Amino acid sequence: MEKNFTCVVCPIGCSLHVKEEKDGSIDVTGNRCKRGLDYGINEWTDPRRIVTSTIGVVGGLEPVTSVKTVSPIPKGRIMELMDMLNKVMVEAPCSEGMVVLEGIFGEDNDVVVTRDVVKG
Ligand code: SF4
Repeated sequence: MEKNFTCVVCPIGCSLHVKEEKDGSIDVTGNRCKRGLDYGINEWTDPRRIVTSTIGVVGGLEPVTSVKTVSPIPKGRIMELMDMLNKVMVEAPCSEGMVVLEGIFGEDNDVVVTRDVVKG
């Protein structure tokens, strides 16, 4: 099995070719540095993404605020997290860094507010 990825670790954006050999080893080519090698292996074995979204705010000057995961989550669980965030409401005021979901998916990872909303 093999697949192509674009490395997003730096702006150069190398085209990576990742191939899993019969013995289970993972071969990455096209990377210019070790960071790209690690990125290619992670994309193959456990692709993860930082997720950004919005949640509702009650009693604020604005009806929503922006949020993001502190660390990347498994790519396959993004929709699950979006469903969770659709049900989250916070009360104004809320400020940057406020945790709205703690320990998501049993990991040491939270969803935090990224934009302040004052009381309306
Ligand atoms: S492989 Fe290295 S040089 Fe190429 S995009 Fe990734 S981090 Fe940048």
